[in-house]
Amino acid sequence: MWKGCALSKTANAVLGEGNPHAEIMFIGEAPGQKEDELGRPFVGPAGQFLDELLASISLKREDVYISNVVKYRPPNNRDPLPEEKEQCMPWLMLEIALIKPRVIVPLGRHALAHFFQKLSITSAHGKPQKLTDTVTVFPIYHPAAALHNGNLRQSLFDDFLNLKSFLDQQQSADAK
Ligand code: URA
Repeated sequence: MWKGCALSKTANAVLGEGNPHAEIMFIGEAPGQKEDELGRPFVGPAGQFLDELLASISLKREDVYISNVVKYRPPNNRDPLPEEKEQCMPWLMLEIALIKPRVIVPLGRHALAHFFQKLSITSAHGKPQKLTDTVTVFPIYHPAAALHNGNLRQSLFDDFLNLKSFLDQQQSADAK
């Protein structure tokens, strides 16, 4: 029997939020301190940078759906354990099934591994990967990585521009 997420004993639930009809879904790793306090994903420093990246391609949070692999903050922001990712997985699967995004953007290696275990974020970021006939995965570095490593900042802006071109191409293909 499924026993729920063990982290729920020490943290508050942070589920995804955004447009229920979003075509793009961003998936991070796990909530941090601010997210745990407010019960909302990406509202701390990494979230502020994510807002900036979205704005750089004329998107707002209300246009997209934002969630995490793990729905509870791991103690001291440590990496989520494999069993914690597994325990939270039903919620992510449910979110994907309900929102039905056309493009899924895993932010960082933990979220990427959920879809493609063998791809590394260093080589796969900014490159669309076909998941099914209707869903594309477009991996991007985690915004928090750029807060620690300034060199990644430009790479994130570049990948968002690539994401925008990809979305525009999809739209023009739809219009034909
Ligand atoms: N980092 C994440 O991966 N998710 C959040 O919601 C906040 C920071």
